[in-house]
Amino acid sequence: MGPPGAGKGTQAQFVAAQLGIPHISTGDIFRANVAGGTELGQQAQKFMDAGELVPDSVTNAMVADRLTQPDTEPGFLLDGYPRNRDQAVVLEDLLANRSIGLDAVVELVVDSESVIARLLDRAIKDGRADDTEDVIRRRLDVYAEQTEPLVGYYREKSLLRTVDGVGQIADITARILDALTN
Ligand code: AMP
Repeated sequence: MGPPGAGKGTQAQFVAAQLGIPHISTGDIFRANVAGGTELGQQAQKFMDAGELVPDSVTNAMVADRLTQPDTEPGFLLDGYPRNRDQAVVLEDLLANRSIGLDAVVELVVDSESVIARLLDRAIKDGRADDTEDVIRRRLDVYAEQTEPLVGYYREKSLLRTVDGVGQIADITARILDALTN
């Protein structure tokens, strides 16, 4: 977990590689579907472009399908999901059906100035359609309103690992791995 621009995607890639498990980014899956012009992409695009969450029915079905793939058997790292309480509850059910549960939830903590600087930098480098100023602002609000409450939800379940997300990329990866193994 962490606001847009916290470095979730970058860190998730390194941590998943280190742990030898798939990195499942709902944002990446949506973007691939938008690029490929699939029906899922068409359903998701207008929400993504506006900085809104894609409806839960669409997102949950996509994750449920992804988690049926055999590469998830040794474990997996979810990046950008769940993003609200209903998704968290659906995820619990999905995992309970497999008699598994979450091992940990990592929260990357980054101050809002660093977040905005990173997003504007990414806008220049990657040209993501949703990295414009208005949409960035909306995505930050959506995070604060819908996703941040999950911090408390997972803290109560003793799953939360809070990690300082400011610093060198490799140092942050080491902090996350440390938080997951200690
Ligand atoms: P991300 O790459 O994680 O920043 O996600 C980019 C966009 O994809 C978000 O702003 C949403 O529009 C959509 N998205 C990604 N994950 C989810 C999710 N769990 N629920 C709803 N929408 C999502």
